[in-house]
Amino acid sequence: MRDFRPDHRWLSMNTATVRKQRGEPWPLPQILDACAKRGVRAVSPWRDQVAAAGLAATASQLKAHGIELSGYCRGGLFTYTDETSRQAVRDDNLRALDEACTLNAPCLVLVVGGLPGALAGKAAHKDIALARSQVAEGLAWLLGEARARRMPLAIEPLHPMYAADRACVNTMAQALDLCDALDPARSGALGVAVDAYHVWWDPQLQAQIERAGRERLLAFHVCDWLVPTTDLLEDRGMMGDGVIDLPRLRGWVEAVGFAGYSEVEIFSRANWWQRDGGEVIDTCIERHRRCV
Ligand code: ZN
Repeated sequence: MRDFRPDHRWLSMNTATVRKQRGEPWPLPQILDACAKRGVRAVSPWRDQVAAAGLAATASQLKAHGIELSGYCRGGLFTYTDETSRQAVRDDNLRALDEACTLNAPCLVLVVGGLPGALAGKAAHKDIALARSQVAEGLAWLLGEARARRMPLAIEPLHPMYAADRACVNTMAQALDLCDALDPARSGALGVAVDAYHVWWDPQLQAQIERAGRERLLAFHVCDWLVPTTDLLEDRGMMGDGVIDLPRLRGWVEAVGFAGYSEVEIFSRANWWQRDGGEVIDTCIERHRRCV
């Protein structure tokens, strides 16, 4: 297992971690400057942040700083109610793929979607099996497009508390079943993003990481699970402040050959988003050395 204590060369900043500091959006160009200044070598930006900064401008700023991506957030949201929404989903995923290519991302991270309409507050139906079949169908289609662009797809299973509104793929086993069905040759075109926050509780976690293997472990996200958790979405903890045994988890992913970045992804409305962005990045660096 790699020793993270001496430096932070394997730290990536998911840019949502510092997306809005003290109530104001922190624009991506400033986030990238702040990362570069601190020797952060990789980031994982979100599409809305890239859109606000401009795709071409972001690509050239990344190049100028020598910062690479550990992933691109995000595609997916495959579930739909009619032909119009189905087509809209596909168009949006193609744009996400093309942006990922322009930014030289190692993978496009997918949050697959839940019951259609639920994210907006009103689910169109209660048929989660239907939602899951639409996810499989959407993924199969997107995989063809992704292969043509040589852009790997990383399914991110989300904690079951998001099954209704964000993702009806909730365990590593479910995500890997989809990989087996759609890419039985383990070509590297389809895999998973292992986010500690979503999967730490899973009794099958170690076994499923071993099942994924190196070809299918495309991204590794870290933060911590706070007790108590006060918000389902925006109360993620800084590494070391919660109950996830991150070194053990990293040991499992590295044991199967994962040697990429560990990406810090913290949504924290009441705490970390209320602080100076530079202070947050500094804290991530320090905790990454000590707690990951
Ligand atoms: Zn994640």
